[in-house]
Amino acid sequence: MKKVHNFNAGPCVLPKEAIEAAIEALRDFEGTGMSVIEVSHRSKEWDAVMQECEDLWKELLHIPEGYRVLFLGGGASTQFLMVPYNLLNKKAAYLETGVWAKKAIKEAKAFGEVEVVASSAETIYNYIPKNFTIPADADYFHITTNNTIYGTEIKFDMDSPVPLVADMSSDIMSRPVDVSKYGIIYGGAQKNVGPAGVAFVIIREDILGKVSHYIPTMMDYATHIKGNSMFNTPPVFSIYVMVQTLKWLKKNGGVEAMHKLNQKKAEVLYNEIDRNKLFVGTAAKEDRSIMNVCFVMNEPYKDKEEEFLNYAKSCGMVGVKGHRSVGGFRASIYNACPMESVEALVKCMQDFEKKILG
Ligand SMILES: *Cc1c(COP(=O)(O)O)cnc(C)c1O
Repeated sequence: MKKVHNFNAGPCVLPKEAIEAAIEALRDFEGTGMSVIEVSHRSKEWDAVMQECEDLWKELLHIPEGYRVLFLGGGASTQFLMVPYNLLNKKAAYLETGVWAKKAIKEAKAFGEVEVVASSAETIYNYIPKNFTIPADADYFHITTNNTIYGTEIKFDMDSPVPLVADMSSDIMSRPVDVSKYGIIYGGAQKNVGPAGVAFVIIREDILGKVSHYIPTMMDYATHIKGNSMFNTPPVFSIYVMVQTLKWLKKNGGVEAMHKLNQKKAEVLYNEIDRNKLFVGTAAKEDRSIMNVCFVMNEPYKDKEEEFLNYAKSCGMVGVKGHRSVGGFRASIYNACPMESVEALVKCMQDFEKKILG
């Protein structure tokens, strides 16, 4: 197999071990003589996988009592809708830190008043707004902890007078999180915890049951809590690969060990961006994401963008082109991206600098 350094933003690099285990289970699931995609989701073997999945989540994130973890189809984007369906009675508050936040705001507006407490839209979301007030009369406050497209991140668990809801699609399991500070944490699996096709929802059960409108069955978190995420057929294969990914994470020291390594990887890459004359980082330094590293060509070398992309490609780099809405470059360095890949990218940037500047 061709060796590449995968910096895709999602779907993205996954642990080799998880992929190998998935290949094996596609052939023969737990000695059942059937593939994992052929067994019944009502079988005891499958029940055990669902249980292991929720147990691993609870263990790795030290999730306290009173919370459940759901595994649902529809991606993070369906959660933009499910959150207000289940929680918005009169008014919700949102922090607008990027396109994903904006999409979440759009859905909430269909259910009531939405107060956007702050936005960094006018500078193309290159920082996280700081001095805002969360209205105490809101039903909940919604944040996007990691802005995948712009490379900014809220790296702490904020205090909120109302239930805090966080889209953690692209930084879940990258750092320890005090789950007790959140009402809901949700995201698509395909950035850090598995393949596309499944979304995770960590939910404190007591925040439910407070809206007066009808919630359609499939949109109602209570349905999925009661059904242990199997009210309808769950995305079995995606969940299976997620379990393998979490097992790999646990074996490698869990979220705490991963956080140390992620910080180190981000530091190595940002240091090179700051040192190298050809490149400049786009996110405000204090808000730099440890998952998505965004940068552009420095002003005098703007015309070299295409050349660098081609050069990086020739060095085996995949997925370093920035999001189509911002251009430039983005290296997504999720949990499964090894330090070796980060070092290879740094070397490629250094070699390109020599090539251009001599
Ligand atoms: C990718 C992403 C989404 C969208 O996820 P889907 O599963 O494709 O719906 C939402 N929020 C953030 C922060 C993301 O990075």
